[in-house]
Amino acid sequence: MLKLHSIFKKMLNEQSQEVLSVYLNMDPSQFGKNNRSIALIWLKDSLKEIKKSIAQDTLKKFEQLERKILDEVEYGDLHGKSFIAFLSLEFFEIAHPRVNVINEVWWGKPSLGQLDWLLEEYRNIGIIKVEAEKIHYYVVSMNEVVKEWEERISENTLLWQIKHSPPEKVLREKAIPGLRGGDTKEIIERHINEEIQKFWKESLTSLENMQRNYYIKEIVLAGLDSQTELYQKNIHTDQVRIIGSIHVSKETSINDMIAAAQDVFKKYERNIEMKLITEILERSEKNTNASLGIKNALKVIQEGRAGIVALTDNTDKILIECANCGYVMTKDAKECSQCLSKNLRVGSIRTLLPPLLRKYKVSMNIVSNSISDKFSKHGIGVLWRY
Ligand SMILES: [Zn+2]
Repeated sequence: MLKLHSIFKKMLNEQSQEVLSVYLNMDPSQFGKNNRSIALIWLKDSLKEIKKSIAQDTLKKFEQLERKILDEVEYGDLHGKSFIAFLSLEFFEIAHPRVNVINEVWWGKPSLGQLDWLLEEYRNIGIIKVEAEKIHYYVVSMNEVVKEWEERISENTLLWQIKHSPPEKVLREKAIPGLRGGDTKEIIERHINEEIQKFWKESLTSLENMQRNYYIKEIVLAGLDSQTELYQKNIHTDQVRIIGSIHVSKETSINDMIAAAQDVFKKYERNIEMKLITEILERSEKNTNASLGIKNALKVIQEGRAGIVALTDNTDKILIECANCGYVMTKDAKECSQCLSKNLRVGSIRTLLPPLLRKYKVSMNIVSNSISDKFSKHGIGVLWRY
C-alpha cells in the first residue's frame, strides 16, 4: 500500500489532461488461470471505444500509450488481485494491490476515485513494541509488515551497561548521584527507570514519522502490560492516535501480534462507525441536519453543505458525471441537471464519488455493511455542516 500512497500523491498533483488511467480486476480466485486474457480482452475493447472519440491531434499519443499498456498487461509481471496503472508520455506508474478493483479505463485527468477509496478502506496501521531497552516499529498494511525498524537505548546508559558489562566496571565508571554503599539498589533502580522513560520519550519523533512517511493515523502498542501502560503515559502527540495495547511476550509470533493488533483496530473502527451511523439515522429521522440515500446525499454534497459522508463497503451504485461541468447525478439522469449537457460519464460510485468529496472537502468514512441493516438499505448517509 505504500506504493499506492505515493502514486496517489503524485497523480493528485498531476496537471496533464492526457493521462491513461487503468484499473483491472485480475483476481485469480475469481478468474483462474485465464485472468490475464480476460482482462486483456476487456482492456482492448475499452481502449477501442475511447479511441472513437479522440481528436486527431492527440490520437498518435494515445496509440503510443495504448501499445504500452497492452504490452504490460499481456507480458508484464503480474501478481496481486488487481492491476492499477497511470501513464502518459512522461510517466508510467503501476501497482498490483492484493485487493479487488472494478474494471475501469479513463483518458483525461488521472481518475483517482477507486485509488482514494482503497486507501481509505485499507488503512495502514502502526504497531510499536515497547521494551525497556528497545522499541520496535512495524508498519502493517493489509495483514503484512511492509516496513519495520528498531531503536535501542544508548550504550551510555546505566541500564545498558549493567546488562552488557561486568558489574565492577559499571559501578567504577558511572558516577551516580547519591550512590554510596547501603541503599544502592533502590537508587540504581530509580536511575534506570528515569533512563528508560527518557528513551521512550525520544521515540515521539519516530511516531510522528510513521504518520508523515507511512500515512499512519492509528497505533497499537505491544509489550508487557506494565510497560505499554507506562509508555502511553509518557507519550503525548496529536499526530497519531494510540488506540489500544496488546500483551505480547517473547513467545508471541509476529503473525499473532499482527492479528491481535488488527482486532484492536477493527474494534476501534467499528465503534466509530457505529457512533457515526447512529447519529446519521437519529438525525435524519427527526429531519435535522442529516440525509440518507444517494440522491439526497449528492444534492447536499454539491450544495456544499455536507460535513461527513458514511458509505457501506459493499455499495456498488452506478453514477453519472457531467463531462462538461462535473456535476454528479444518479444513474437515471439523461442530461446534466445543471448545464443540460448530454456529454455524460458513467461510472461506479467508487470512481465518481471520492473525487467529488475531495472537491467539496467532505470526509469519507467507509463503514461495514453489517453494522446496521437500516443504514445498509440506503448505503450512504450524510451529516450536514449546516
Ligand atoms: Zn453539466
